[in-house]
Amino acid sequence: MNHVVPTPLVSTIKERCRVCSTCVRDCPAKAIRISAGQAEVIPERCLGCGNCVRVCSQQAKKVKSLIAEVEQLPAQGHPVAAP
Ligand code: SF4
Ligand code: SF4
Repeated sequence: MNHVVPTPLVSTIKERCRVCSTCVRDCPAKAIRISAGQAEVIPERCLGCGNCVRVCSQQAKKVKSLIAEVEQLPAQGHPVAAP
């Protein structure tokens, strides 16, 4: 089954970012850079592991909700199962 996962999965809430670079150092995919005075996720590199969310002391990382996209899948003919 082919489907496209929307990106970016994780983004920075710029008002909260203190540019401490912790997430840049701790990202296993080197998917975060400091740009224009804030930590910026590079969508093409992000694995969606969530480590940057865990290590940010400012709660400045936001995970994209995929609920709306998942709710569209049955109407598009894709099977959906819930645990
Ligand atoms: S860890 Fe949080 S506060 Fe520090 S640079 Fe990353 S997003 Fe900004
Ligand atoms: S979710 Fe993981 S891979 Fe993506 S930016 Fe955060 S730490 Fe890096």
